[in-house]
Amino acid sequence: MAQETPSVLDRASLALLGEALTKLEFGFSDLPPAGTTDEAHPETARVLGEVAERLWDNFPYFHPLYAGQMLKPPHPIARTAYAMAMWINPNNHALDGGRASSVMEKEAVAGIAAMFGFPEHIGHLCGGGTMANLEALWVAHKLRPNDTILASAQSHYTHERISGVLGIPFESVATDGRGRMDLDALRHRLERGHVGTVVVTLGTTSTGSVDPLPEILELRDLYGFRVHVDAAYGGYFTLVETLEADTRRAFAAIGQADSVVIDPHKHGLQPYGCGCVVFRDPKVGALYKHDSPYTYFTSGELHLGEISLECSRPGAAAVGLWATMRLLPLERGGEFAHGLRDSRKAALQLHAKLAGDERFITPFQPELDIVVWAVKGKTTRDSTRLAREIFHEAGSHNLHLALAELPVAFFDFESAGVTVDSNTVTCLRSVLMKPEHLAWIDRIWEILSESADAVIR
Ligand SMILES: *Cc1c(COP(=O)(O)O)cnc(C)c1O
Repeated sequence: MAQETPSVLDRASLALLGEALTKLEFGFSDLPPAGTTDEAHPETARVLGEVAERLWDNFPYFHPLYAGQMLKPPHPIARTAYAMAMWINPNNHALDGGRASSVMEKEAVAGIAAMFGFPEHIGHLCGGGTMANLEALWVAHKLRPNDTILASAQSHYTHERISGVLGIPFESVATDGRGRMDLDALRHRLERGHVGTVVVTLGTTSTGSVDPLPEILELRDLYGFRVHVDAAYGGYFTLVETLEADTRRAFAAIGQADSVVIDPHKHGLQPYGCGCVVFRDPKVGALYKHDSPYTYFTSGELHLGEISLECSRPGAAAVGLWATMRLLPLERGGEFAHGLRDSRKAALQLHAKLAGDERFITPFQPELDIVVWAVKGKTTRDSTRLAREIFHEAGSHNLHLALAELPVAFFDFESAGVTVDSNTVTCLRSVLMKPEHLAWIDRIWEILSESADAVIR
């Protein structure tokens, strides 16, 4: 029987979905029968089989040997709750499109705002980090229409692109040797004036570096700019108690920022299509062209479409997130937080193995759960070629890593005897965002090490 082959895909939630649908239907039992049958279209099974075959052409994001980009399937509770909502398909644009799911969205967003320590807030879910950041920069621009937006050279490229879309002047600020915004460079730029907003990245996408938020907040007191925190990747690390002191202080200060973005579809265990933007001041709701009094924006009657640039949005995304937060509350030191703690532990273990190996050059210890490393070559161009070859070799042995293009300044190539003949170097990169990675580090290392030997010889 097919069921007895070792399974790599969870199916326990299928039975639970069936039970939950029965319960869901119970709430609508006063309706007359709608003539719906349990018979699927006769061709459905054939087409689904074809779809399964098409989906074979994916990297196995669900497996611990997929240790490349920021990709993993949602938690079973998120997938099941989302699927259940699909039988109704609510739209959180307006209350009559998604009554229950709008309330669930407000509760979930309030939980995220509380995690960050906002005393008051206004916010909502949206398609992802890009939309969430677009909205935060749009608000920033409305409030400081003539001023420049700054973000670090390692910030997500979306900020420069969004600024272009919105017609806002954008400049990038140099980073230090650990990929964090350089405070001297920032101060230097602030002295020249006309800075409206500084985007502070807590967890850069390529190396998981965390900008010095507390120090940037001190500069805000001096220079009077808005602070927007892009925590699309890193936000949930706020709950982790084992981070280095500097990193922990940065996350603890998010509540003092003017706005923050977090992606529940990255570390929040959700399916794609779930970003979140939160503003500290509920009054920004009035910028969305609205003539209600300010108090409206914190009332239960608020239609989320009136404080969101997107119109139709999946109510199911709110349902999935709400259910996940119910099962795994956002608590410091709780079960959910332990998942992120273990991811980081896995990253530190892999980093330690790499740092102790002559074939590789590590830049700095991971702040979160992203590890990057260069391969030792005669020159940095040589390192780039070797990294690409190891990437392919490991992939052919089912270990899926990622590549990242980083400034050579992140590495001490001189001490390693590598001639620098390029400005950037292609490195290997591993996002260890599945807690199960921790139990697989030895296996990951074994394949990586053999792949490196095969390429370097
Ligand atoms: C992923 C990411 C984004 C973009 O978010 P999407 O959900 O991919 O649209 C923005 N900023 C950071 C720091 C990110 O990691």
